[in-house]
Amino acid sequence: MTGTSAAARSSRESTTTRMPRVQDFTLQVCATHEAGPYTRLRVRCPELLNPRKSDELLPTAWLRLLVPDGGRQHQRGYTLVECDHGTGEASIYMLHHDPAGPGSRWARSARPGDRIGAQLLAGQLYLQPPPDAGALYVGDLASAPAIAGAIAAAPASCDIAVVLQAEPGSWSPVPHTACTLTIVSPDAGEDALIEAVTTIPGRDYAWLALEASAAQPLRAALIAAGLPRDAVQYQGYWRRGTPMGRTVETSARAAA
Ligand SMILES: Cc1cc2nc3c(=O)[nH]c(=O)nc-3n(C[C@H](O)[C@H](O)[C@H](O)COP(=O)(O)OP(=O)(O)OC[C@H]3O[C@@H](n4cnc5c(N)ncnc54)[C@H](O)[C@@H]3O)c2cc1C
Repeated sequence: MTGTSAAARSSRESTTTRMPRVQDFTLQVCATHEAGPYTRLRVRCPELLNPRKSDELLPTAWLRLLVPDGGRQHQRGYTLVECDHGTGEASIYMLHHDPAGPGSRWARSARPGDRIGAQLLAGQLYLQPPPDAGALYVGDLASAPAIAGAIAAAPASCDIAVVLQAEPGSWSPVPHTACTLTIVSPDAGEDALIEAVTTIPGRDYAWLALEASAAQPLRAALIAAGLPRDAVQYQGYWRRGTPMGRTVETSARAAA
């Protein structure tokens, strides 16, 4: 689920470089380490990460990883951060969640030298906050990497607030020094999150990425609280109780 108004969409599409609907790449794992509840993978893919393609990868850009598991290929979205278009490398923070799925399982087992298929889908939209904006980013541990990347790319004059739905004390890649960070426990429920988000003063821009059923009510609450519709971008990042993404038979299995 992703959402923006038609007006915002068309103005952003005009700034998006035209490219094929799906581009296929292979990522090679260079290094892995455990970072709080994530495996941080440093991956290399000079065909995707190079000075010619840097305009295609807006902040919050993500890839559809083709995760092998149980003889099938599972399509899962993961955000590219810390991109270095000189060396052809980037990082992916893959959350360990419970129950685990193919994506989080693969992250734990990945080793340097491993390769994984990935697809870049066209039409990814991200509207940067304007200079001096009161920017609000709302997410959870799955979208914290995207929020960290967005903060790094935001104009230095922005006043940035982040509300993260996470267990207090959880580590995330969000840089505490660059923003005002509010943590809301998932156990506190939707009303507590809405309260935390709508009571931060001086916001005129919002980017939301949460569990799919939580993103839309939060957007509605922000609009009801006075944010212009066009200033609120939102996306569901995962679905409670069910996988997020398609599963396809691999050719070996399909041929068997
Ligand atoms: C655009 C986009 C960018 C994303 N970027 C990242 C990223 O950088 N890092 C990252 O870790 N995730 C990211 N996600 C979220 C990730 O794709 C989903 O969490 C995905 O469901 C994980 O796949 P899986 O195979 O591990 O679990 P699935 O097979 O999809 O699900 C298995 C079980 O785990 C549960 N589950 C899935 N995700 C979570 C979660 N986050 N918290 C709690 N339970 C969960 C499901 O409800 C299900 O019960 C992104 C999603 C999108 C759409």
